[in-house]
Amino acid sequence: MKQIVILAFVALLAACQTAPVDQPAVISPVDASASASASASESASASEQEAKAPDPLPAHQWLYGSAEASLIMRQTWSTIASYVEAKAAEAPAHGVVLARNSTPADPSFLACEGKPLAAVFDADETLIWNIGATGYFMRKGIGFDPVIWDDWEKTGAGKAVAIPGALEGLERIRAAGVTVIVNTNRENRNAAGTAETLQAAGIGTFAHRSTLFLRGDAPDGSGKDGRREIISENYCVIALVGDQLGDIADPFNDETLSVSGRRALTEAPAIAGLWGNGWFVLPNPIYGPSIRGGFTDIYPPETDWAPSN
Ligand SMILES: [Mg+2]
Repeated sequence: MKQIVILAFVALLAACQTAPVDQPAVISPVDASASASASASESASASEQEAKAPDPLPAHQWLYGSAEASLIMRQTWSTIASYVEAKAAEAPAHGVVLARNSTPADPSFLACEGKPLAAVFDADETLIWNIGATGYFMRKGIGFDPVIWDDWEKTGAGKAVAIPGALEGLERIRAAGVTVIVNTNRENRNAAGTAETLQAAGIGTFAHRSTLFLRGDAPDGSGKDGRREIISENYCVIALVGDQLGDIADPFNDETLSVSGRRALTEAPAIAGLWGNGWFVLPNPIYGPSIRGGFTDIYPPETDWAPSN
């Protein structure tokens, strides 16, 4: 029987688990003229394509193109690697995966029990940038299409790139004797294509249900807690890394949480110290559960302002 290390109890709202969606579901469509021009330009020269292509969306420009985003990634990956190196050296007593039925507000964590150490990473927009598929959607002027995405999971090897800082960070993590495991919501029927994509990007070689876990490997759909539990059978997980909170723990994706309530849950005193210290989040302004909120969620009435004249 597993020992449970109870770290803290804090009264705060309890969040029930819901299935998170972390696939690229929000890619804003461009206008019809851009779509038509993209279609007509398939056989055109590169310069003609450039002239007719729609402007990249600001979020795409920032994430995939900017030096600022690249530097944030490198900074974060360096922090992750330093944390893992230090943690591996101290023989930790417990990991950072929330135990079954515990919550961010009232957490408990599995004891290590002498198991080998692992760091668990999401794949999309955590280890790799899906620039090939995103560029296709943009050229065609379409939003996210699950059928096309399924094809991307199978055939995208070589057209997704490693996130800046990831390769150096993973090298340090592996050198510290910590196993790198991927927990992604790509479909398990496409395990081979995803492993090929990760390998082609230089992330490493992964084996399905050993170091690569996908949607369908546990019965909770796009929720990742079930797969984290399976991984924890064989490893003490000392780091969780992703671009969505569902990569850390499913209760953060409770769809009944308001925008401010979701933020408040991440600030629960019992787990607030884990961010940057076992739990790591990378920026993704393009898609996912973070992209939400009505006008007053984003611009609270108490901040209303207008020019004085
Ligand atoms: Mg992701």
